[in-house]
Amino acid sequence: MKILISADMEGATGVTWPADVLPGTPQWERCRALFTSDVDAAVRGFYDGGADEVLINEAHWSMRNLLLENLDERAQMLTGRHKSLSMVEGVQHGDVDGIAFVGYHTGAGTEGVLAHTYLANSITGVWLNGVRASEGVLNSALVAEYGVPVVLVTGDDLTCEDAIGYAPEALKVAVKDYVSRYAAVCRTPARTAADIHAAAKQAAALAVRREPARDAGPYTVELEFDAEHLAAAVTVVPGVTRTGERRTAYTSPTMYEGIRTFKAVTTIASAAVEEQYG
Ligand SMILES: [Zn+2]
Repeated sequence: MKILISADMEGATGVTWPADVLPGTPQWERCRALFTSDVDAAVRGFYDGGADEVLINEAHWSMRNLLLENLDERAQMLTGRHKSLSMVEGVQHGDVDGIAFVGYHTGAGTEGVLAHTYLANSITGVWLNGVRASEGVLNSALVAEYGVPVVLVTGDDLTCEDAIGYAPEALKVAVKDYVSRYAAVCRTPARTAADIHAAAKQAAALAVRREPARDAGPYTVELEFDAEHLAAAVTVVPGVTRTGERRTAYTSPTMYEGIRTFKAVTTIASAAVEEQYG
């Protein structure tokens, strides 16, 4: 049994503030250890639940955050950016039986600690076929095309609530309770590691590959930006049309194409952001 862990940082233990997840800051250096502790607990839990192989895919920012030297020696880690499936890279080779979303968070424009969808600020909302979509929603639709179930989700309490919608059977672990976008009641790493380990051990039993959801599309992705010029800028991507002053939409036959267009749109939008004015 092979498990893939998609590891994001905003939903990690103790993390509540932009500098906590911003590479290069002293706070980030400290929070890397907390993040690594969450991921390591999941690795150990999956092995104790019967996994033969656990691959971690770093999914935050430049995708170089976890401390390899602090991970269980059985784990393997894919670190660094520029990967064709981004946050869920590794799921496409036909050998993954289950995926865990560790350190996930809620979507742009909704309540939740450090809530956003891909871009920290510029995107104020994403909808997938008319339903508000977090990164968990988008990535769960993508991994379903490879027949891989989401078996574990960790993050704040609202992230766990969000996951009920896209992965009802998955085990969920809230490592902190939402107070505001930048505040949470946090549990200690000793406590959250124990909770994640227990959940991952149980979640291993859910890691059974399914029939790939090849006909679940088409997918219409709508994006709302915080400034109208960003909506204008992203229409250079073929298939992306303007649906409102700050809104755009595109339709893809599969989520594979949908997520790749999403990557193109977010890359262009972030390049069009001007300092101070956005
Ligand atoms: Zn994220």
